Amino acid sequence: KKAVVIGSGLGGLLTAAQLAKDGWTVDVYERLSLIGGRFANIEYNGYQLSTGALHMVPHGTKGPLATMLRDLGADFEIIQSTPMAIVRMPKNAEDTDYKNGYEDISYLDFKKHLTSKNKAMMVLLTLGFKVGLIRPTKIGFKQWYSKYIHDDRIDRCADSFTGWALSTTADEVTTREIFEIFHNVYRYGGPGILKGGCQTVIDELVRIISSYGGTVYTDTEVTKIIVKDGKATGVIAGEKEISADLVISDIGHKEAWEICEFDGVEGECGSHVLALSKPVFKEYEEKLAEMKPSAGLKICFASDEQILPDGCSLMLTPYTRRINGLNEVTIADPDLAPPGKHLVMCHQRTALDRLIEIDEEIELGLEDVKDLFPDKKIEILIIQVHHGRWPVNRAFSGTDFGNKTPVSNLLVVGDGAKGEGGIEIEGITFGVRDAMKIIRS
Ligand code: FAD
Repeated sequence: KKAVVIGSGLGGLLTAAQLAKDGWTVDVYERLSLIGGRFANIEYNGYQLSTGALHMVPHGTKGPLATMLRDLGADFEIIQSTPMAIVRMPKNAEDTDYKNGYEDISYLDFKKHLTSKNKAMMVLLTLGFKVGLIRPTKIGFKQWYSKYIHDDRIDRCADSFTGWALSTTADEVTTREIFEIFHNVYRYGGPGILKGGCQTVIDELVRIISSYGGTVYTDTEVTKIIVKDGKATGVIAGEKEISADLVISDIGHKEAWEICEFDGVEGECGSHVLALSKPVFKEYEEKLAEMKPSAGLKICFASDEQILPDGCSLMLTPYTRRINGLNEVTIADPDLAPPGKHLVMCHQRTALDRLIEIDEEIELGLEDVKDLFPDKKIEILIIQVHHGRWPVNRAFSGTDFGNKTPVSNLLVVGDGAKGEGGIEIEGITFGVRDAMKIIRS
């Protein structure tokens, strides 16, 4: 049986590797000359920068991605952040920035900074959640907890966490999704950095796919998904028609739908006019129209001095103007920078309506870097804006669609098709696991 995978991002490669291992003949088509999509290294003057991800695996060595990679026989190493994260708090409780000094605390000590009443409320809510008394809802997380707690410190820390991990505010993600995420943190543990960066995983997946006889073609765009009688029967890749029993899209639901050609009808929307006559297709198109990608801005800098304490590669920064957090990837793997240098990656969630004023957002981020490290000599290496078709997430966390499309034999993996409660690539792994269940059933 033959499968075609469109796109060589992490979701596409993970699925291709599983299919190849199951005995499918697998072709992966990637339109760029680079493999890995938003999960690849970019080498710059000896620094391992990236096309997207911050070299971080949200649930580290015991998480879903690490487990799936081990099952596939991949060789990789993740160095856990210990403690999971530190939080930079202002020294004086009444301050709203770091100008009068700060203290870096373990995330575990965060409660110490709250009033006794709020501390007690947090303990009650956490307990209620752990024993299942609190029922997750679809309202925004901040809207939900504000019914019980009012504290600027909690609001800032919540936004800092969701901004860092999901590129959303605490209110743009549902309470249900956040609870599922907390649940997974309890279940699997906290983050770690990939030794060698994202590229190690991508290279390993390509090796595994090849070892089972699969092929990854670069510089080959898929321009059409051929649909006959409601069933995907192949693709046009690099102008050649390739027949397949299964088509996997790692390019998102919307992008895959746009290139579907129904029963040989071409034209800008001619094929979709035909398709829309079926209610199930119309419903799908309406859902697609609501899907919003989340945007973010990444500032990577080099320092001559180490910035974070030994062992801890992640810091949340709730009192900045824009930056939600940063990781010093060289704490885990010094080889991600030239000898004696340290590499730091800062992330800031970017509101979609601020993309038109992106220069201002960049300036605010750069001012944050100066305020966070006033006494350090810093060299800015790269500033990247991620949005549109190269976003942080194709769908705001918790609004992913699942793998199925209204076209049979066409499944979607990658972000936009993540499983519930899965932060970034861990969610992609849940989505790939679900897709494989559908294929194997
Ligand atoms: P993609 O990586 O988008 O891959 C899709 C591929 O398809 C691309 O290579 C594209 O070129 C190709 N393609 C598109 N159209 C076609 C076509 N028609 N034909 C052929 N090929 C095509 N996640 C984490 O877990 N940890 C992190 O530290 C982290 N940090 C992040 C920081 C930033 C700034 C960003 C942007 C993302 C971050 N993420 C992180 C998220 C993570 O990078 C993504 O979720 C993941 O890489 C997406 O993988 P994917 O398989 O969905 O698709």
